[in-house]
Amino acid sequence: MTVKNLGIIGGGQLGSLLATAAKKLNINTTVFCDDIDAPAQNFCDYFIHGKYDDKQKIQEFIQKVDVITFEFENIPFETLNEMNKFKPVLPKPSINRLIQHRLAEKDFVNKLNIRTTRYVSIEKKDDLETLGDFLPGILKTTTMGYDGKGQYPIKDIKDVNSMNIDFSKEYILEKLVKLKKEISVIVTRFGINNFEVYEPIENTHQDQILKNSLIPAEINKKILDQSTEWATRIAEELKYVGTLCVEFFIDRNENLYVNEIAPRVHNSGHLTINAYNISQFENHVRAVCSMEKIPLKKLHNAKMENLIGNQITPYRQNIKLNENQFFFDYLKKEIKDKRKMGHITTII
Ligand code: ADP
Ligand code: MG
Repeated sequence: MTVKNLGIIGGGQLGSLLATAAKKLNINTTVFCDDIDAPAQNFCDYFIHGKYDDKQKIQEFIQKVDVITFEFENIPFETLNEMNKFKPVLPKPSINRLIQHRLAEKDFVNKLNIRTTRYVSIEKKDDLETLGDFLPGILKTTTMGYDGKGQYPIKDIKDVNSMNIDFSKEYILEKLVKLKKEISVIVTRFGINNFEVYEPIENTHQDQILKNSLIPAEINKKILDQSTEWATRIAEELKYVGTLCVEFFIDRNENLYVNEIAPRVHNSGHLTINAYNISQFENHVRAVCSMEKIPLKKLHNAKMENLIGNQITPYRQNIKLNENQFFFDYLKKEIKDKRKMGHITTII
């Protein structure tokens, strides 16, 4: 099937960059988003604004597109499942349901004999009382978290009383890893044992938000091989189609842990636009639209800096960039604290 119109659920920067990649391949895009100000409407061909459970809008979207994908994981499973009855949703809705729940996600990874952080399910406040062994830890909502939202670092049980935590939600308590480094591995899978994998990317966070990404990551060969093997095995086990990212922790004893899986393109892979012959976005579009896989070639080393909140302002005012620098403005309407507004990739 030749895909003429690709449907993308979610209209943030990842949706924008997917739409841009599709354009390059002569594929039109329709973005469906619940935010009337979604920045991706500046980059896509058609835009549908509506809530993700609006049956009429879902039908309108289905009519317009040939294949459906998404740029974020927190989409109601029922919505994806409904859409999948009419047009293929890739990656599969069941994958999304698994990964959007931190507990199910970690159970799945452990079943593959792949190491994660230690964790325990927390259903009520009392569950925390006896869990000294998991402290210091981070309490995270099992669903809907991103950029550190819905996360509470806990050093001591006594801290919990003074924190305003809504225990009507489900949580997971994770033991804090003494981090040496964080890396991510991005894989695009086209079919059975048919994938391309990008080299590990080294990531640094500020306030639990990604700030800088770098290739090559400064890691030893064992970590490089293990992270690559784990990421590709996860993609294979999921029978994944499209681009997926696995976030890893490396502790001070050089142990590798899976932190989380993103069933989508990932912020740390923005540098693939300038560093590779085919970006993570183009590869995602190629895979979900059943297009040809082109051998992946790294062209440059690179680093990427996220521009968060006001950090975008000087760049919008025509700062002179060097020849090896590439500025991306997500064209978000409003500058907000902690909001990712754009990024700069530097070829090194
Ligand atoms: P999000 O869905 O918001 O990306 P993550 O679980 O990836 O949530 O957490 C965001 C960041 O917080 C991580 O990249 C890491 O820097 C820090 N973090 C989260 N969990 C742990 C942990 N168990 N040990 C150490 N650092 C952690
Ligand atoms: Mg994360």
